[in-house]
Amino acid sequence: RPRSELDAVDSVCPYCGVGCALTYYVDRSRDAIVFAEGRDQPGSQSRLCVKGRYGWDYAASPQRLTVPLIRRESSYPKGPLSADVRGDVENDRGRAGSGGERSGGGRNGSRNGKGNGKGKGRKPGGLVDYDEVLPHFREATWEEALDLVATRLKEIHASGGPGAIAGFGSAKCSNEEAYLFQKLIRAGFGTNNVDHCTRLCHASSVAALFEGIGSGAVSTTYGDVVNSDVAIITGSNATANHPVASSFFKQARRQGTTIVYVDPRAGTVSDHADIHCQIKPGTDVAFYNAIMHELIRLGLIDREFIATRTSNYDALARTVADYPPERSATICGVDADTIRQVARIWGEAKAGVIYWGMGISQHTTGTDNARCLIALCSITGNVGRPGTGLHPLRGQNNVQGASDAGLIPMFYPDYQGVDREATQRRFEDAWGTQLDPNRGLTVTEIIKSALEPGGVRGMYMLGENPFLSDPNINKVRKALSALDFLVVQDIFLTETAEFADVILPASSYLEKDGSYTNTDRRVQLGRKVMDPPGQARVDWEIVQDIARRVGLDWDYTGPSEIFDEMVELMPSYANLSYDNLGLTGKLYPNADPEHSDGLVVMFDERFNTDDGLAHLVPAEWLPAKELPDAEYPLVLNTGRLLEHWHTGSMTRRSYALDTISPVAEVYMHPKDAADRGLAHGERVRVRSRRGTIELQLRVSHREQLGNCFIPFHFREAAANLLTIDEVDPFGKIPEFKFCAVQVEAL
Ligand code: SF4
Repeated sequence: RPRSELDAVDSVCPYCGVGCALTYYVDRSRDAIVFAEGRDQPGSQSRLCVKGRYGWDYAASPQRLTVPLIRRESSYPKGPLSADVRGDVENDRGRAGSGGERSGGGRNGSRNGKGNGKGKGRKPGGLVDYDEVLPHFREATWEEALDLVATRLKEIHASGGPGAIAGFGSAKCSNEEAYLFQKLIRAGFGTNNVDHCTRLCHASSVAALFEGIGSGAVSTTYGDVVNSDVAIITGSNATANHPVASSFFKQARRQGTTIVYVDPRAGTVSDHADIHCQIKPGTDVAFYNAIMHELIRLGLIDREFIATRTSNYDALARTVADYPPERSATICGVDADTIRQVARIWGEAKAGVIYWGMGISQHTTGTDNARCLIALCSITGNVGRPGTGLHPLRGQNNVQGASDAGLIPMFYPDYQGVDREATQRRFEDAWGTQLDPNRGLTVTEIIKSALEPGGVRGMYMLGENPFLSDPNINKVRKALSALDFLVVQDIFLTETAEFADVILPASSYLEKDGSYTNTDRRVQLGRKVMDPPGQARVDWEIVQDIARRVGLDWDYTGPSEIFDEMVELMPSYANLSYDNLGLTGKLYPNADPEHSDGLVVMFDERFNTDDGLAHLVPAEWLPAKELPDAEYPLVLNTGRLLEHWHTGSMTRRSYALDTISPVAEVYMHPKDAADRGLAHGERVRVRSRRGTIELQLRVSHREQLGNCFIPFHFREAAANLLTIDEVDPFGKIPEFKFCAVQVEAL
């Protein structure tokens, strides 16, 4: 059909935190998207990566959940039994299973509501085997399923107290859905045990930013890089993980910005960098302390800024005095001359900016790593002016918004502390109920608590898949199996749904209106393209129906009404309204009600801390918790690929994306492979102290000697069977970037 006969719907990409604006072109005669096109907006300028352009067809998968499901009582034990995610070290229950079909063809599935995965069509490899799992569940009406959810959660609340209930919300859902979900857990069950995947990506960055500058969000946009003399991109494979933001970095370099890339892997960002400092994994503190040591030694610091805008400089200077480049070089593996060169480039620049990813945050020292970046910007006066600032590149498309909306155990919406009495009173008045004055448990603490007497017994899981996304998943298996009741609300039968007592069929972002907030703090509208399939429902409506059943008097009529309530309770949302978001969204705080601008300079006069100063927090380098040894001599790093997204529930059901990248691989340096007699393309075994997986070997010069990399998208080679569940003491974020493994022939 010609474009003129297609229906154009403006929305935003559902994948990464860049939040590219796009338009879907829909053939209404068959209720199908024909293509997607980038749309002009200051943060994406009509650009899209492969996921935004081709990754939307998963919503039409014949595997969509379309009917509420209730577990048959006889079907215990819970959870995946297939060999592909069983592990073999701590597994105390597994049996050999089929592991699912591994091939298939075809493209589009039915949306006629007769699905639940039984429809004909493509059955991608490496996903939950519906034929194996569905017999353990029976179909139910919405009334029956929702009544059961409310009854069981109320029973557990009555017998175990508020602390026996916990909820995982989702950064894939809209701001309004995130807000309602945390409100339900807090107001309906009297607990702050509500969290989401921010705990797994940037919780340590947020902890350091709050401590240092009083705000957990970015201080500048990625588009502002064009105004920077130098940009440090660190711990971020941005070309794969934030592709369109990375295109701004490349563009800036062509216009004269010096790019310094600091990362253990030679990701494709390094192809566009002026300098690549290939540090050893887990040595960021040693590297950045040496940079600051050298800056102070050379006097390339902003003394006026330090005197008027920061506190605790003397303590910082004392600490970094112990990190001369020669000493740090022995720790981080970057030679002292290169450290000095980077320090001079940064110190002589008029405007410097730092963008960082999970190579900084996902460490047991993640908060210390981010503290160093904050200190580096602060002692050189690189905050509060164009071309300067701090920008943790957020992962999920709405992880910023979900965090803002209060899906965090220690904060009400807009980072208002639950343990502040005046704040608690304000929310009690607004929500008409008594609230818990204590901080709740984080994602990692909730999983731990489920294994303890008197811990969490009942969980509501909205759109998260911790069985694949959390560390050391043999432990997660035990925790999820130990729950008295688990309700999973999702669009597919995920690995976590295999543990559920009730599964509620939910909506993809294409099937509802809602607002989403990108890494720049741009609040944008996603618009409904089509109806949910079968009996699947919009998420906020499901949450509201459960809230009513547990005694909350809710009567929201739609996302705009929920957004209005958020604006009333969130000072940062001043000047925002559902109606003024328009086609390009608005940056907050201090949103301009009339215009959508592409640049916000924050902290030009004071920081958000109580005294208005940036608090410099010195950090000592600490080694990782599990170091390589003779039995496990390699360091494992985990992360994402360009074509896939998190646990693969969406992208592995996308024809184009899964076709480009269908196979789980471990990436390894050529010499490490040769030393083991391994060849590119052969299947190998990777084992750690916690489990073993088998997958294909990719020999790559981009890996550092002694290290390997495995993406965590692939159920059949689940990287988190290998990872450790040690966490950062401040942000409580797990160590996804460092554990000891061995790779060997099968
Ligand atoms: Fe989507 Fe991110 Fe790609 Fe933009 S860069 S199209 S938001 S995945």
